[in-house]
Amino acid sequence: MHQLPDAVQHDFLSDPAFRISLDDCEPGRGRTVIMAPLGPDGYNRCVVLKPRLEKCSAAFVRYIVAHELAHAWLHNGGWGEITDREEAADAVAASWGYAKVPYE
Ligand SMILES: [Zn+2]
Repeated sequence: MHQLPDAVQHDFLSDPAFRISLDDCEPGRGRTVIMAPLGPDGYNRCVVLKPRLEKCSAAFVRYIVAHELAHAWLHNGGWGEITDREEAADAVAASWGYAKVPYE
């Protein structure tokens, strides 16, 4: 998180609707995810990370975390001319220094 631009860090840390949570999933028992409260727009900016990331390469994990934080920063929308939410998140993550890495 400290490697993100200062303005992005400030945006996240000043927003009570922002949170990073772990998906606590137990096969056969269900899952628990602690979410941030909804913001005034009726949404939250909760980034939920799956435990299976522990089994992925460090480079892939850095990319995924940056991609998910980019979604939160963009309020799950586009970025400039990029209207596709996934492409926008990838472009923002790349602008932060975390270009797309294939799953490994
Ligand atoms: Zn995405």
